[in-house]
Amino acid sequence: MRSIDEQGYHFEEWLTPKQIAEDVQQVADRISADYRDKEPLFVVVLNGAFVFAADLIRALDKDIRCEQTFIRVSSYFGMATTGQLEFIVPLQQVVDQRDVIIVEDIVDTGLTIHQLKAHLRAHGANSVRVATMLFKPAKLEYDDAKPDYVGHEISEEFVIGYGLDFDGFMRNLDAIYKVKK
Ligand code: 5GP
Repeated sequence: MRSIDEQGYHFEEWLTPKQIAEDVQQVADRISADYRDKEPLFVVVLNGAFVFAADLIRALDKDIRCEQTFIRVSSYFGMATTGQLEFIVPLQQVVDQRDVIIVEDIVDTGLTIHQLKAHLRAHGANSVRVATMLFKPAKLEYDDAKPDYVGHEISEEFVIGYGLDFDGFMRNLDAIYKVKK
């Protein structure tokens, strides 16, 4: 098993690239079936979701017509949430009447999704669903933030890799690693 040591923490490989690819394909297949007659707009939450989003949109059925736009928010510092969502890159595309799919790397407390959904609905989105690579159900604090499409569920551990960072680094890892105490 592969492992990484970073800033005094020990991380062990949890999802291999092959497992990740299977999870992504399963999510893509479900979205392809649900959005066959629609033109979804993927709102990709930077920075963490860019790796998942890149794989996800290429795994969709080729007859799905879709667009992508990017938004950047911040609520975390190191391993702890600050509870306050800051829009660093605001919404740049008209979402009025659009069927929006928010793409996240991980849904933890759900604060980010809770606030983003309200933001997108306030801007006139016809529907808003959420696709996330990882979901921590035990940590969810906002009912409306339960994701519609989940790659893999995880308990409460902190993870890095495949877009997920540790203070800005480690997003480039091709697998997902769990911190070990
Ligand atoms: P939420 O708003 O749902 O509490 O948190 C969502 C954001 O927190 C994610 O987009 C991600 O940036 C960050 N986050 C939550 N859990 C983890 C984790 O285990 N590892 C990393 N790297 N980021 C996490």
